[in-house]
Amino acid sequence: MKMSWFRAFPPLYPLQMNDAANKIKKSRVNVRRPDVMERVAAEVAIHFHSTVVEKLRDKGGKMTVGNTTLLLAEQFGFCYGVERAIDLAYASRKVFPDNRIFLIGEIIHNPEVNRQLREMGIISLPWMELTAGYDELTEDDVVIVPAFGAPTRFMDKVEERGCYVVDTTCGDVMKVWRRVRGYAKDGVTSIIHGKSNHEETLATSSRALGENGDGHFLVVLTTTDVDYLCKYIRNGGNKAEFLAYFIDHYSDGFDPEVHLQRVGLANQTTMLQSETEEIQRRIRKAITDRDGDDTAFQVFDTICGATQERQDALFEMLKKPMDLLLVVGGYNSSNTAHLVEIAEPELPTFFIRDASCIQSLQEIVHYDLHHREEKTSDYSKLFSADRPVTVGITAGASCPNNLIEETILKIFELRGIDREALANL
Ligand code: SF4
Repeated sequence: MKMSWFRAFPPLYPLQMNDAANKIKKSRVNVRRPDVMERVAAEVAIHFHSTVVEKLRDKGGKMTVGNTTLLLAEQFGFCYGVERAIDLAYASRKVFPDNRIFLIGEIIHNPEVNRQLREMGIISLPWMELTAGYDELTEDDVVIVPAFGAPTRFMDKVEERGCYVVDTTCGDVMKVWRRVRGYAKDGVTSIIHGKSNHEETLATSSRALGENGDGHFLVVLTTTDVDYLCKYIRNGGNKAEFLAYFIDHYSDGFDPEVHLQRVGLANQTTMLQSETEEIQRRIRKAITDRDGDDTAFQVFDTICGATQERQDALFEMLKKPMDLLLVVGGYNSSNTAHLVEIAEPELPTFFIRDASCIQSLQEIVHYDLHHREEKTSDYSKLFSADRPVTVGITAGASCPNNLIEETILKIFELRGIDREALANL
């Protein structure tokens, strides 16, 4: 019984012999079999689809009932990379019904999606450190690589253990890897604009070391980081202080006097476009001030299309009058946080996990990006039942439609409009 999955669904790629290690290793497994994907599509739809969201989209993203108007951004929620990653995770369970299945970290940054995978018996492994648990993986185990990818040392370990690998890394993330590997090949240091403790940036940093492991990288996040970097590029400075400022954000052996001579910029795919452009501009200017031209500077904009579309759609939406905006998504989701940053200066904006955060017409639980904590705010002035209100909703690329639907229904419910009334619209 243990190997029944293998007879039923042999991997599409043949098993391979690694002569050097003298042990059998398996190729990455393609679980995208038509029969499997048909069942996956049905299950994913049950878990994450929403007829209310579809209806609202069909109505041009606007719905008014009584004195309550709801606006939905033109682009929101699941992106193609996330949809693919979820499909492949679900398919893994179907192709390997009897095997242990592990996931490096989280498939995406959404608690509801990760909960569904846990219910299927898919076990999350640590993603910051290669813990002893990785040494206990066996050749019968399946390991799913999340949409963000995973650092090379994790991939090497999983391969060394001979596990079946289902790689859901998004193609847009892999484009960044190609770029930073190219920088390393040409002796160019990668400056990575991203969060140094984000899965994707960790994975990208490991590729910036290049095929031979002798490449270098530096991770910058804020414009303050960039200004510090630019000052050093222009004038040099105290190397020890520089390394202390960026501690844990650069490759082993990084020497600012050597490794800032030729630099190439890349960014985490989910950063804020305007910030990334500003960072490009500042570094290019610093190099030009130092060298007289910018030939020692390369840049490749690696913000993905889905992130860009969601940011652009929000800018469009903000042109319309709204009383408040709800941004739905996981609190650790980078692209969702950037939507909040875009909207916050314009109107009251609340970053919520799901509908349960909207506790009443008076109170909303939401994530405060500045203090990095969840808190409860009183928003009764904005939302009293007797005054007309327009609520905007958008959601990050990792947020399923069913969570958006519950948020919409909760708002209408608090305003005295029940589900049946909405069903007849
Ligand atoms: S947000 Fe962009 S990079 Fe990330 S999974 Fe979606 S499409 Fe891919």
